[in-house]
Formats: sequence, C-alpha cells, structure tokens
Amino acid sequence: MIATTPVHPDAPELADYCAGLFGIYVHVPFCTAKCGYCDFASFDGMSDLAGTYVEGLCQEVSKSGISSCDTVFVGGGTPTSLGPDLLGKLIAAIPRSDEAEVTVEANPESLTADVAIAAAAAGANRISIGMQSALPHVLKSLGRRHNFGAVAAAVDAARGAGIGRLNLDLIYGAPGEALADWRQSLDAAIALDPGHISAYSLTVEAGTKLWRQVRDGHCRAPDDDSQAEKMSVAAEILANAGYVRYEVSAWAKPGEACRHNLMYWGGGEYRGFGSGAHSHIGGTRFWNHRDPRSYLSDLGVLSAGSERITSEIEVFDRVSLGMRRAAGVSISELPRGCEGAIDFLSGAGLVLATDGRLRPTAKGFALGNEIVIRLLSVAGSEC
Ligand code: SF4
Repeated sequence: MIATTPVHPDAPELADYCAGLFGIYVHVPFCTAKCGYCDFASFDGMSDLAGTYVEGLCQEVSKSGISSCDTVFVGGGTPTSLGPDLLGKLIAAIPRSDEAEVTVEANPESLTADVAIAAAAAGANRISIGMQSALPHVLKSLGRRHNFGAVAAAVDAARGAGIGRLNLDLIYGAPGEALADWRQSLDAAIALDPGHISAYSLTVEAGTKLWRQVRDGHCRAPDDDSQAEKMSVAAEILANAGYVRYEVSAWAKPGEACRHNLMYWGGGEYRGFGSGAHSHIGGTRFWNHRDPRSYLSDLGVLSAGSERITSEIEVFDRVSLGMRRAAGVSISELPRGCEGAIDFLSGAGLVLATDGRLRPTAKGFALGNEIVIRLLSVAGSEC
C-alpha cells in the first residue's frame, strides 16, 4: 500500500515533491452510454473490443520499455466497465514501484464487489468514483444512469476490498439543479466520509449533446454567477467538514491529496497508454490516436502526433497549472518583470505573496484566468 503520511494537502513541499514524480496514465475508452455533457475520448457500443484493447494496451506498455513509475491513474471512459478479469489484467501490467499510488476511476454502477476485489488484488490502492450528484433529477439531466444508492454501494465495495483511499467526483450547474440541491449533494458525499472530494463546474463543450440542447434552446447553459455561488458554497461546506482545498476543484484530508494530479499540475513527466492518451517526456508531448480502432491498428510509439515544448509553452504551463494549486508557484519561477502584475493581483485580493510563493486566494480560485493573463502579459514572459 502507498504510504499515507498525513501531509497537509496544500503544503508547498508536497506539491513540489509530486512535481518530481513520474506517472503513468492508462486510458480505457469504453462507456455503457455517452453522457450528454461529455467530450472525453469515450465511446459507447464498443465493448466488444475490450479484450483486444487490453491486449493491445499491454503490448504498448511492454514496447515502451518503461520499467517503473511513482503514480498510476487508470481513467476513461469507464475502467470498471471492463469487469474484474480484464481490469485486473490491465492494472497488473503497469510497471510501478511498490509504493506507487494506483488510482482507478469507477462508475457507481460498475464498481461491484468482484471488480473492487480484482482491482485491489492487482494493486489498486485508490478509487475515484463518479458520483456527480445525489439527486435523481440532477443525475437524469446529466444523462447519468445511477442513483445515490449505487454510489453508497460502490463505496462499500471499495472499502470491502481493502481500498480505503477514495475520491468522489461531483459536478455542479446541471440544468435544473437548485442551490439547495447542490448543498444536498455535498452533504451526501461528505456523509460517505471519503478522504477526497472533487467538485467540477459543468461546462458546455462544443459538439456534445448538451451543447446542441443549449444551441437549440432546450436548456440554458450554466449561469456564471450561479456557478460562482455554487463554487463558494462548496468551499464553505467542505472546509467545515475538514477538507482542505489544494486545487481549484479538489479537496482532501491530510494524506489524501492525489499525487498523480499534483504531478500533472507541477509539470511532471508522464507516459500515457491507450487510445487518446497523451505523454510528456524529455521536453516533448506526444499522443495516441483518439479512436480505439485506429489506436489498435497502429500500436506504435508517437503514433498520432507530437510537439516540442517551447520555452513559451513551458512558462505558460508552469503558471497556468501551478496557480491552479493552493500551493501556487515559487515567485522565483514566475516570468521576469511581473512584480507589477503581482502587486495588482494582490491589491485585487486574487493572490497572496508570502514566504517566496504566490498563492491564489479563494477569490483567485474563481478568477484563475485573470491571474494567468496578468502574470503572462509581462513583456517577453521570460524567466
Ligand atoms: S461515464 Fe464519464 S467518460 Fe463515460 S460518457 Fe459519462 S462522463 Fe463521459
């Protein structure tokens, strides 16, 4: 099991430590149905490919020559839709250290006891469950098929299999969700006592079913003011329940912060396996085909595309990803000449400059784009 030293989740030393980890992301593209708001690389009606896909993925892992990593994240899609045998085979094929954090994303309806036991036996030590809401009408408007009872059962299944590190994902802003509904979902999630809760603002992504519904006037896009109020309510309720906000959308108890995500936000290196997976190694990003069939027919490394990370991209990533974290970034790593921007942002109550770091405030979390634009609009944006 991963050591769960109870480090404060927003500690800069934890953020900086995780930025130096090497991660592996594994993508499972299958879902039983496509949710109306989803623009991830996920597909329904392809589950007949699952066995071939896991075989292909194991080949890609083996060809990569990678022998170990510090964090693993099996995401999707719906990894738990693979069932116990294929999911266990996939997790077991990922090379990692004995102490690695190994997270598996799960949908409530497919995280059954046998799936949880197989995942644990193969090495999973953290489960992230897509709860989204506790309210039936909200889940329905999101196009989700589970109910809150299935979330509670999934939590029991994970704990019954010995996996104690749990995240619940929530979404706010679905059509028809009142502020009281959102409070109820937060309370229901807290009652299940996970160590980690993520709360995401619903966004209308071009090309999704939700986007077409908004375009055609069948429902309204989430209103900015209402979303800001829901974010603020989440921050208040979760803080009162003992969760520490360590990223704009992530709250954790001590020892429960997601190291894999901290690795991403710190600009760490990672290898992605599976369709649509992206990698970042040695100053280059590369990615696989998004379509599972194209991926399987071309199982080469760097098969779909790559880009060299220029100094401009590197600075943008460091600021935009780093300032998502409560730990912020070291002021010495900010672009040269941005003192004026720091003064302005401090005066506006968006950041705090203390102990050599620039951190977002609660107001700054809500206006992250403003922070990034100001810091990067410095002439030259050099470090
Ligand atoms: S279950 Fe998740 S990945 Fe699958 S369609 Fe729904 S939101 Fe997308």
